Amino acid sequence: MKIKILGAAGGEVTGSSYLVETTTAKVLIDAGMFQGGGVAEEKNNNQIIDPIGIDAILLTHAHLDHTGRVPVLLKNGYRNPIYATAATIELAEIVLQDAAKIQVQDVMRKNKQHPENHLQALYTPSDMFSFHELCKSVSLHTPIAIAQGITARFYEAGHMLGSASIELMIQENGQNKIIVFSGDLGPRDQPILRHFEQLPHADLIFLESTYGDRNHRPYSQTIAEFEQVVHQIVAEKGKILIPAFAIGRTQQILYHLAILFFQNKVTPFPVFVDSPMALAVQKVMNHHPDLFDQEALDWQRRGAFPLDPKWFKFTSSVEESKQLNKLDGPCVILAGSGMCNAGRIQYHLKFNLDKFTTHVMIVGYQGYGSLGRQLIEGAKTVKIHGEEIQVRATIHTLNGFSAHAGQSDLLLWLSSMLVDRPKIVLTHGENSEREALALQIEKKFALQPLLPQLNEIIEI
Ligand SMILES: [Zn+2]
Repeated sequence: MKIKILGAAGGEVTGSSYLVETTTAKVLIDAGMFQGGGVAEEKNNNQIIDPIGIDAILLTHAHLDHTGRVPVLLKNGYRNPIYATAATIELAEIVLQDAAKIQVQDVMRKNKQHPENHLQALYTPSDMFSFHELCKSVSLHTPIAIAQGITARFYEAGHMLGSASIELMIQENGQNKIIVFSGDLGPRDQPILRHFEQLPHADLIFLESTYGDRNHRPYSQTIAEFEQVVHQIVAEKGKILIPAFAIGRTQQILYHLAILFFQNKVTPFPVFVDSPMALAVQKVMNHHPDLFDQEALDWQRRGAFPLDPKWFKFTSSVEESKQLNKLDGPCVILAGSGMCNAGRIQYHLKFNLDKFTTHVMIVGYQGYGSLGRQLIEGAKTVKIHGEEIQVRATIHTLNGFSAHAGQSDLLLWLSSMLVDRPKIVLTHGENSEREALALQIEKKFALQPLLPQLNEIIEI
């Protein structure tokens, strides 16, 4: 069998997708969008996945860099099942509808500036028409036959609500092989979610390597730093702008703010979740207490559930969003997109980056070329919507909030499957990160991982 790597390879973190091809079946694991600015995003137009002959699509989790090309497949005629956990299906629907709207808006704005280009959106909300009916929800640990000779099993990945690692048991020419896709793995000390599970066996493993070169700072330190910035803006009557994916980081930040308020460490101040999407996500979270960890369940039992919307204000209309710029601090505004490349956070940054009382809290991964990356790297000015903006705000990078496992967690996840010396393939990481992880795997387990390029084919 062959596995073609259709994204998140060659040192790239976004665009995850793998095409597994046997003599009897073709299965796609994830169909993610390339993200992080012009060059990366052009790939979404050039790297089109042909839906013909694909028997099933399996999604590890709902993030756009793992699901964002699904609507393109639908647009081009894909009509077979899409398998994912129930929470992933609910969240992917929100994520993809939102992505479609953003693409339409961006193209409209660009065409206004340069009508001669006649740009077209990669897909529009109407391309999502058949998504829901094609989706089949899977339970963790239950084997499910997805194509001729291929059975799949999903395991908790601890990365976001509904996230999973996927094991494929493949029968071909009288032989059985097990291929494991880590999906994105979460750090074990992340709140709200349960820990990733270790899988029993594999012949071939695709492992993400986003933070393959390092361990995150201890989570308690990150929370301490977070609290310090909160106290600072209370004293300065400042604003904290937090670019955050509407799923995951947003709930994590809200969770910690609510605990600070609840424990009377800070007098409650307005916290705005400027994201209609986050409101929709809140509802999905409420459907799935089965996926929460013990601490979150304990808070809930004590009647102080930190994700209770009573602690926060959700702004849904654009008008409400604009009003936030006139407000004095202290306040916190959370808005997408997580890498500052689109969405309402761009407007908040545009109006507030030139003020000394603004604090931008970077709590997630920022891809090469993204606006968030420029801020982390200390840019004195940035361009937003074609306008040059001075950066006088303080930029805080709180890496400990990452939804990705650090090096030792990745090695731990891997360690349960190595008895038969499987082939290991490292993807979803920049080159220095995945090379560092490869070195550790060699040192610790005497196995030499492959570091493939985009469109490379792995045979087994
Ligand atoms: Zn992810």
